[in-house]
Amino acid sequence: MSGMYWVLTTLAVAKKLDTVQRDQFLDFIDECWDSSSGGYSACPGHDPHILYTLSAVQIAATLDAIERLPSDDIVRYVRSLQNPDGSFAGDRWGEVDTRFSFCAVATLALLGRLHLDDNDNDTDNSIDLESAVRFVLSCQNFDGGFGSRPNAESHAGLIYCCVGFLSVVRRLASIDGDTLAWWLSERQLPSGGLNGRPEKLPDVCYSWWVISSLTMLGRQRWIDSDRLKAYILASQDVETGGFSDRPGDLPDPFHTVFGVAALSLLGEPGLLQVSPTFCMPQQVIDRLGVTSQILS
Ligand SMILES: [Zn+2]
Repeated sequence: MSGMYWVLTTLAVAKKLDTVQRDQFLDFIDECWDSSSGGYSACPGHDPHILYTLSAVQIAATLDAIERLPSDDIVRYVRSLQNPDGSFAGDRWGEVDTRFSFCAVATLALLGRLHLDDNDNDTDNSIDLESAVRFVLSCQNFDGGFGSRPNAESHAGLIYCCVGFLSVVRRLASIDGDTLAWWLSERQLPSGGLNGRPEKLPDVCYSWWVISSLTMLGRQRWIDSDRLKAYILASQDVETGGFSDRPGDLPDPFHTVFGVAALSLLGEPGLLQVSPTFCMPQQVIDRLGVTSQILS
């Protein structure tokens, strides 16, 4: 399911959505739906999980087919995964991680079912937002970064999830953005590429997680964009057109979508504008009437 999201999003951002078989994507989503829980699985016959549920909603939204989805059941599934401390489990087996907090609010927002306003009457479909925010904020570390749980090591992928969560729920002002942006800007290496943690190799997928977080925080200029762009382009395979984790390695759809999405945020011409919060074309987000907080 996530593979289909990576491929579809790449094509959409590259303005090639007309090349896909729309019905094949939508039929696949239907086959992965679990009617008893309301969630979606990675592929037919597997257990549902909140990650694949978000991917299914992102695919349907990009294909302008969100009204086809069983929204009430998906909301029921997301709600069923929230724990008393505000955190979310990924599935019924109970693993807890800040990634799943992002998946929960992003899924609800794309469905138009995230209620941020106390005056909103339709509160019976909402999650416990305040405890969800408290849990994510409790995962910010002394270095400004976020980990998977309270006191877990700062990691750029999880920072994207936590900053994205706070962007969706419009609470970015609750965190120390300067210290966080300092930690993120320290991820740039002499090659121009970005790593996900100190002492790690640069990797194109971290281009996305770091640059999207800095963009949401209004601090994209804290890294050298030209050198990052050059590093991403050097990771494109000249035979297949795909992107790999670093120059010379084999390309894959995962690094391709995050490389292309990062290039879009860096202003590469010929690409659709990408939402730094949702990693989807901004025009899809606008069409749905979904708003997220981006600091200037
Ligand atoms: Zn990677």
